Amino acid sequence: MANPKSRTIVVCGAPAVGKSSLTIQFVENHFVDSYYPTIQSAYNKVIRFRGQEIAAEIIDTAGQDEHSILSSTHTVGIHGYVLVYSITSRQSLELAKLIREKILNFKGTDSVPMVLVGNKTDLHMQRQLTPEDGRDLASKWGCSWIEASAKLHETTTRIFDLMIAEIEKSINPD
Ligand code: GDP
Ligand code: MG
Repeated sequence: MANPKSRTIVVCGAPAVGKSSLTIQFVENHFVDSYYPTIQSAYNKVIRFRGQEIAAEIIDTAGQDEHSILSSTHTVGIHGYVLVYSITSRQSLELAKLIREKILNFKGTDSVPMVLVGNKTDLHMQRQLTPEDGRDLASKWGCSWIEASAKLHETTTRIFDLMIAEIEKSINPD
């Protein structure tokens, strides 16, 4: 395809929730057991969406906490946000709320294309959050929600399909 649409996606969330593992599983098809936690990396992948090819740039951030300050690299020219928490950490969902607030404040908007992702479903014995905890929050926010495991490639594909759908919906509402 000559000129595929390009879309820039930021993967954000608390430290150690699996942002890098999800991103690498999606882009490279394997599970990384440990990844340097403070590094930010960008990945490119062509995503097929409803018969179109979309050139996605995926920015895997170093992670945010209550003290982190967003910069324009996380907000300017970004089409959508994959906001990750871990189902094993109630605190990571609390941080997700703060991170979303920071994004909206920085952008000066009250809504942004977003997918809320509850990661680490394979660690069900350590679950601190029910599916409803995430689903209810996402419905309040008016964004997509999904649970996933970075060990399962299929669930990471669904995350980015939802992300592209949210972005396309915001650009061309029907
Ligand atoms: P990040 O700081 O959000 O980028 O988190 P990482 O991707 O570096 O993951 C932090 C730790 O959690 C690593 O030891 C990963 O192997 C582990 N991890 C990430 N996702 C999953 C998952 O879905 N299931 C399990 N069991 N471990 C995960
Ligand atoms: Mg990381």
